[in-house]
Amino acid sequence: MPSDRYSIFSVLTEALRGQTGWKPAWRKATPKPNYDVVIVGGGGHGLAAAYYLAKRYGLSNVAVIEKGWIGSGNVGRNTTIVRSNYMLPGNIPFYETSMKLWEGLEQDLNYNAMVSQRGVLNLYHSDGQRDAYVRRGNAMRMHGVDAELLDRDAVQRMYPWLNYDNARFPIKGGLLQRRGGTVRHDAVAWGYARGADQHGVDIIENTEVTGFRITNGRIEGVETSRGFVGARKVGLACAGNSSRVASMAGLNLPLESHVLQAFVTEGIKPFIDGVVTFGAGHFYISQSDKGGLVFGGDLDGYNSYAQRGNLPVVEDVIEGGMALMPRIGRVRLLRSWGGIMDMSMDGSPIIDHTPISGLYLNGGWCYGGFKATPAAGLCFAHLIARNEPHAVARAYRLDRFRTGHMVDEKGMGNQPNLH
Ligand SMILES: Cc1cc2nc3c(=O)[nH]c(=O)nc-3n(C[C@H](O)[C@H](O)[C@H](O)COP(=O)(O)OP(=O)(O)OC[C@H]3O[C@@H](n4cnc5c(N)ncnc54)[C@H](O)[C@@H]3O)c2cc1C
Repeated sequence: MPSDRYSIFSVLTEALRGQTGWKPAWRKATPKPNYDVVIVGGGGHGLAAAYYLAKRYGLSNVAVIEKGWIGSGNVGRNTTIVRSNYMLPGNIPFYETSMKLWEGLEQDLNYNAMVSQRGVLNLYHSDGQRDAYVRRGNAMRMHGVDAELLDRDAVQRMYPWLNYDNARFPIKGGLLQRRGGTVRHDAVAWGYARGADQHGVDIIENTEVTGFRITNGRIEGVETSRGFVGARKVGLACAGNSSRVASMAGLNLPLESHVLQAFVTEGIKPFIDGVVTFGAGHFYISQSDKGGLVFGGDLDGYNSYAQRGNLPVVEDVIEGGMALMPRIGRVRLLRSWGGIMDMSMDGSPIIDHTPISGLYLNGGWCYGGFKATPAAGLCFAHLIARNEPHAVARAYRLDRFRTGHMVDEKGMGNQPNLH
């Protein structure tokens, strides 16, 4: 009998029988002619939506169609940070729902996703920034989310090696969310893929959606590189490619695609316990369980669908790192890579139906969609199954840019590359 469930007993049994009984984590499905729901995009959000559609909403005649392999998109390219330290009422309940789902995810999926609540610390460098963090921390606590304001001494006890007396950017303290942390990104994709497959979902890899069949304003299915696949409902979860895919259905989305890069150094002894973000530039860092320093910074700043970045941004990110922790200059960079970000006009996502009946959109995740994966999947599944928004995702409407109901967490205005 192949091993379905991961447990200490199955690990021991497999050890005794030479690891011959493990099944592939999910089937290699071939497309059926018709489904109740087709999800386009097998990233974290598409897989999570399929999982919750089957598990919570009883819809298992579902396919996820992915043009590459599972984990080839942003779900396998991000810097793995999860947190719910938001301030706006439209955002806090959504991201806290996600945090709670992260906290139970491994038990729910029976999969080791290496959820590590090691703490996320946002540093502040001026009195004005401290006041803004006090406000954010208070908003979080009023919604039942943990937040602690630390002074310089408390930060120094945690991270003595930061550059506290940088003449331009002295560290004055930080806002800490202890329940934030990191989750192994590709394990999230694999865990949701396995969970969805176990509930009967077809995961169809290496198959590109190339068009939509729409009759009298109603979706009838998708054209793919392997032929037509019929569906009563279609959900788009294409992250950086959202606008490109939606344009095949005649939709012009309020999104711009930009490249975001990330970096990892050679493995060194553990010295960064949590996640630290620089408050005076765009730089954030953590240390992976293998010892590599994982860090990133700003967008490349021009529109692109290429999954690679340019050198001036590499220089900018490294400058941020050197200002915050000069010792980073002594380690060698191992790898850098890029992913395509679907930047929305106000920096917040969209989980909504489109003007085409039966066609739904999950997009606009900007820098921050990994932490949203469980809640985005749940809310997208709710929307598709019930045809109404989930209570914690009501703010993420597609028409808010027309009606003026922005969710501008950063207060940057309608400039996608600044969010
Ligand atoms: C460098 C980097 C660092 C990041 N760091 C963080 C972080 O620390 N914390 C955080 O919260 N977020 C972070 N993010 C953002 C986060 O990774 C994304 O917002 C999130 O992963 C997007 O959702 P997804 O997982 O579904 O996307 P993806 O994994 O990109 O899934 C979309 C899928 O759609 C598929 N697709 C596209 N077009 C088609 C088509 N025509 N037919 C079929 N399939 C198609 C793609 O191949 C892809 O697999 C980061 C992103 C990057 C690039």
